[in-house]
Amino acid sequence: MSIEISNLTKLYGEQKALDNVTLSIRKGEITGLLGPNGAGKSTLMKIITCFIPQTAGEVWVDGLNVRDNALEIRKKLGYLPENNPLYPEMYIREYLSFIAGIYRIKNAFSRIDEVIEITGLGPEIHKTIGKLSKGYRQRVGLAQALLNDPPVLILDEPTSGLDPNQIVEIREVIKRAGKNKTLVMSTHIMQEVEAVCDRVNIINKGRIVADDKTDNLSRYTGGARIISVEFDKKTDRRGLTGIPGVIKVQEEGNHYLLFSKGETDIRAAVFKYAVDHQLTVLSLSENQRSLEDIFREITLGR
Ligand code: ADP
Repeated sequence: MSIEISNLTKLYGEQKALDNVTLSIRKGEITGLLGPNGAGKSTLMKIITCFIPQTAGEVWVDGLNVRDNALEIRKKLGYLPENNPLYPEMYIREYLSFIAGIYRIKNAFSRIDEVIEITGLGPEIHKTIGKLSKGYRQRVGLAQALLNDPPVLILDEPTSGLDPNQIVEIREVIKRAGKNKTLVMSTHIMQEVEAVCDRVNIINKGRIVADDKTDNLSRYTGGARIISVEFDKKTDRRGLTGIPGVIKVQEEGNHYLLFSKGETDIRAAVFKYAVDHQLTVLSLSENQRSLEDIFREITLGR
């Protein structure tokens, strides 16, 4: 079940929260919506889930337009909103039964057992929601979103405010819950996308600035690759800059970082340079750039 977003714009008064966003969210994949605070992630999710109307543009969920089919679409969606509103005085089962009633879920008891199992709520099941840790409250929110067994899951910052152990656990829950579903989750954490998502859409100031497989993010770096090379002695830095494809050189003793543009693989040229200049290559490796670096580069100045 796919989600199609076309030229979507949202204004809050003068504030442009979404600026002409066009995006396809594919079925059966976990898609990360990655962006800093205020980028427009929640706004996009609220429009997809029919909680707020757009200013311009169109959104289709499974071919249904959000303008005309809110009720129908909500039946297909599980939504974990940003602040996960829950009823603190309710017991977990009591709350899930209440939600099951709203959705008129058949076989509610067995379905509640299933979502308790998927989200790992078992050990805390005897507590009221108000007495749960933030991590467990988040699991209750996920259980609520899963109850209807919706083909589409929309999770807004599902790990925010959790401690590192809880984050790892909730990510596992999400991966389990996302099997065979179309899942969109927002986050401002690069590692989260790496750990959980098949695809990533980077959003900044209301615009999508990258849309690709998580593995392909590096192609948005302006193409820069970094080769780290160590020779047995110092060489002329300007000579290294002359290697075809090299755009920048950083020097530290006889160790150099060579930045190259695009997909150009300069390694062979570096070896040739070494031979031509009677240098021995002591080590040569490609430096992996962190997602943080990539993110900073993509969002800078946009
Ligand atoms: P994110 O989820 O990426 O943090 P949001 O979608 O919450 O971003 O917000 C996008 C922008 O819209 C921000 O500048 C935010 O201040 C603004 N915004 C969000 N909700 C409202 C609102 N109800 N009224 C006015 N401005 C809003």
